[in-house]
Amino acid sequence: MRMSRYFLPVLKEDPAEAAIVSHRLMLRAGMIKQSSAGIYSWLPMGYKVLRKIEDIVHEEQAKAGHMPMLMPTIQSADLWRESGRYDDYGEEMLRIKDRHDRDMLFTPTAEELITDIFRSHVSSYKDLPLTLYQIQWKFRDERRPRFGVMRGREFYMKDGYNFDLTKEDALHAYNRHLVSYLRTYERMGLQAIPMRADSGPIGGDDTHEFLVLAETGESEVFYDSAVTDLTFGDREIDFDDVDQCQSIMEEFTTKYARTDETHDEALFNEVPEERRRTARGIEVGQIFYFGTKYSDAMNAKVQGPDGKPVAVHMGSHGIGVSRLLGAIIEASHDDKGIIWPEGVTPYHVGIVNLKQGDEEADAACESLYKEFTAAGLEPLYDDRKERAGGKFATMDLIGLPWRITVGPRGLKNGVVELTSRKTGESTEMTPAEAVARVKDIYAGA
Ligand code: ATP
Ligand code: MG
Repeated sequence: MRMSRYFLPVLKEDPAEAAIVSHRLMLRAGMIKQSSAGIYSWLPMGYKVLRKIEDIVHEEQAKAGHMPMLMPTIQSADLWRESGRYDDYGEEMLRIKDRHDRDMLFTPTAEELITDIFRSHVSSYKDLPLTLYQIQWKFRDERRPRFGVMRGREFYMKDGYNFDLTKEDALHAYNRHLVSYLRTYERMGLQAIPMRADSGPIGGDDTHEFLVLAETGESEVFYDSAVTDLTFGDREIDFDDVDQCQSIMEEFTTKYARTDETHDEALFNEVPEERRRTARGIEVGQIFYFGTKYSDAMNAKVQGPDGKPVAVHMGSHGIGVSRLLGAIIEASHDDKGIIWPEGVTPYHVGIVNLKQGDEEADAACESLYKEFTAAGLEPLYDDRKERAGGKFATMDLIGLPWRITVGPRGLKNGVVELTSRKTGESTEMTPAEAVARVKDIYAGA
């Protein structure tokens, strides 16, 4: 992409309405525009990162054997009356009437719809286990939409649902999701800690939330500092392996880590004092096992091995895809702007031409641009006739992890400069070396 043709409405001033850094930076970097309270348009730069995050979620779901599908955003109230949640859900549900005066709603979650699909098409235990998911817009009429995409009213969410014959099988699905989520967040450059949580209106017994530590987080969290030493790394996982998933799940959930809703002071005090931490966190996902709650209410049964009908065991699992943009920025920024982790960066490398119009500098930039593109990487080339200072400020604000600076003086010695956004460190090298270095970095990412 060439900056001269890009739609990147960068703001010079800090927008007054933004109370936290991620909201401020997303507005300043021209990623989103508010359309009404808690509802945003995703401008090209924001949309690009949203899709990168979505891609990672899809890839990791595929590895776990879960199937993507898509359900409508507008649903009939009938199914929700069947489960009893139409009245229970309260004011967060956006209720709509169609022209025939029928009660409709904008989906806040989709347990009812997926259970209806399941009961219409699955009748035998032989079709289990089954895990389906979607990434779809949700609407919750939040009392206090705030912090930009972190607490929107319209937001993008991955919601998955497992159907199993027995409680044991459903608990394996639970563990499998926990493992798969750990890996998903790590690929985004995030440490998300699973914490025992409260189930809220979804209902159920077993539930963990995934929290990213950040001062601006809305939840108060209590944990054993040893949990922050745990990393998932690049372990090989066989998602069908019940014992492997169980042991990884235990590795990540046995140390004390809870939100204020489930916090137990006496248990917490058993953690050695020097490891006890109280902090704030952003919830980026949650997994639930709720047994036969919906299958009983909605009569979702299969024929068991003995020929008798049994209600299926279910769970649901959510990732806040749009909220993740905010969470990543909260975890990775400095006073100049965003610092994208390599896994989600909108463009792999920025090219800054210090002297647009200089024949040699222009040619060197063009050739870098072509080589990156040919290597399957996406460069963002600042080809505007602007002062170098302004170009650097924009690059720092939008936060690409790597920048190549090209100018006539360097080119006289045959070199350009490669700069890391994170450390600020610059190294001179030939253009060919710079291309090779950046290719290497992303081959490992
Ligand atoms: P919260 O407690 O933050 O209101 P929740 O527990 O009601 O969230 P879930 O039903 O668990 O939300 O939804 C799954 C994920 O969707 C959450 O972990 C969160 O990351 C995301 N999410 C929920 N509500 C919002 C919102 N209003 N704006 C953006 N993302 C949201
Ligand atoms: Mg939740």
